[in-house]
Amino acid sequence: MPSMLDAVVVGAGPNGLTAAAELARRGFSVAVFEALDTVGGGARTEELTLPGFRHDPCSAVHPLGAGSPAFNAMPLARYGLQWLQPPLPMAHPFDDGTAAVLSRSVAETAASFGPRDAGAYRRLVTPYVRRWDTLVRDFMSLPLSALPRDPLTLARFGLDGLPPSTWLMRRFRDDRARALFAGLVAHVIGPLTGIGTGAVGLVFALAAHAVGWPLARGGSQSISDALAAYVRDCGGTIHTGTEIKRLDDLPPARAYVFDTSPTALARIAGLGRAYDGYRYGASVFKIDYALDGPVPWTAEEPRRAGTVQIGPSSREIDTALRRASGGRVPGTPFLITAQPTLVDPARAPEGKHVFWAYGHVPHGWEGDLTDTMERQIERFAPGFRDLVLARAVAGPPQLAARNANYVGGDIACGAANGLQLLLRPKATLFPYRTPHPAVFLCSSATPPGPGVHGMSGHNAAKAVWRQLRGEG
Ligand SMILES: Cc1cc2nc3c(=O)[nH]c(=O)nc-3n(C[C@H](O)[C@H](O)[C@H](O)COP(=O)(O)OP(=O)(O)OC[C@H]3O[C@@H](n4cnc5c(N)ncnc54)[C@H](O)[C@@H]3O)c2cc1C
Repeated sequence: MPSMLDAVVVGAGPNGLTAAAELARRGFSVAVFEALDTVGGGARTEELTLPGFRHDPCSAVHPLGAGSPAFNAMPLARYGLQWLQPPLPMAHPFDDGTAAVLSRSVAETAASFGPRDAGAYRRLVTPYVRRWDTLVRDFMSLPLSALPRDPLTLARFGLDGLPPSTWLMRRFRDDRARALFAGLVAHVIGPLTGIGTGAVGLVFALAAHAVGWPLARGGSQSISDALAAYVRDCGGTIHTGTEIKRLDDLPPARAYVFDTSPTALARIAGLGRAYDGYRYGASVFKIDYALDGPVPWTAEEPRRAGTVQIGPSSREIDTALRRASGGRVPGTPFLITAQPTLVDPARAPEGKHVFWAYGHVPHGWEGDLTDTMERQIERFAPGFRDLVLARAVAGPPQLAARNANYVGGDIACGAANGLQLLLRPKATLFPYRTPHPAVFLCSSATPPGPGVHGMSGHNAAKAVWRQLRGEG
């Protein structure tokens, strides 16, 4: 290691690894320090239940990863990353045994909403689908880390997306489309009436049409392993099993880039109360299942879908989100589930399956949602429980213990609702900079926020390389 590094990165999650790769590939000397014994943060794969069952304890499905300008600019396929597309990106079953779908095809998706809403959906998404590549680059570079390439489309997207998602959902007359869209918005783990929530639903819908909702072959760990291998090939070093508690724990460097929570950053870098106003939000209750066979969905569409949303109506989804973010356990939780072995049978012994599910619960909640979640799954897949060979459960305390960034079990590393959905970690045009001129923040506590896409890491690295080159 040189006596003075150009940059040190703390945390080897997707954003930390992306920041390291972006700097190393530009010729800067970089070292990464990760608290856990393996790289990956929220993109990892482990045998959590039984031998031969390879689960993703955190992220599983990657519309934002497949659409990420940062990932797509790196040769990650050369390092083993392969996106696997399920026949259907997502299905949303209803009590009557039918399902709405989010398909690669706009027409198939629209048709699944029924004749009264098919046209409204086509009119909503078609203008953006054609311009996805520039839109996603502009959207994920906000605020202002680059000039928009297509300002008109971005402005139109802002008009549609900035108001609450409930405004967009008024375009639909039936609840099939509304419920599916509400499920997309639920990724914010906050009320559907929040500012900017329309954009969240739209981005997930557009991604399905433009790039799909793929899973990584072998599990999400392969995203992190590919990033780490690329960092090393570009000359960077990665040190695992090293929790950083103070800036003095790190070697001398011209820049320090933190893939941590703002609170931890303030503590480690001695920034006092710089992020005292930052809010942490609701959590999830996560269950990883080893199954004896595929999930016996009543409807046909979920059997072909990588992701299945379980929320019978937009009203029930809204109630579940309000309760979880308001500190009460939802009686009928909204569930997001994923079926990795549908596209990647090698992740379980022959004929067996891994199944991934979570529902929203309050910040720091210490209860057990297993029975409630399984009753909901049984509602749409009777016989599910009979297939369970083993399960690994993790509520907020376990999630927080796994990853210091999940404060109180908040998997978004800070509430992604209210103004903090758009302006994180605080209202500034330079969210990656901190009060310390050599210290930067690159975690999902910065724009564009949660998800495995590396764009926070990319945007933060840009601020770092500009400073190192004396450009600003
Ligand atoms: C249950 C669950 C399901 C999810 N599902 C999806 C999904 O399907 N698709 C999707 O795109 N996203 C999903 N996510 C979100 C996604 O995982 C995160 O948004 C993403 O991982 C954030 O990346 P990051 O690099 O900012 O932080 P993280 O991935 O959290 O990485 C931070 C890293 O920093 C390390 N670290 C923290 N403090 C220190 C310290 N003091 N010293 C050294 N190291 C430190 C941590 O150990 C960790 O490795 C999910 C998350 C969870 C928990």
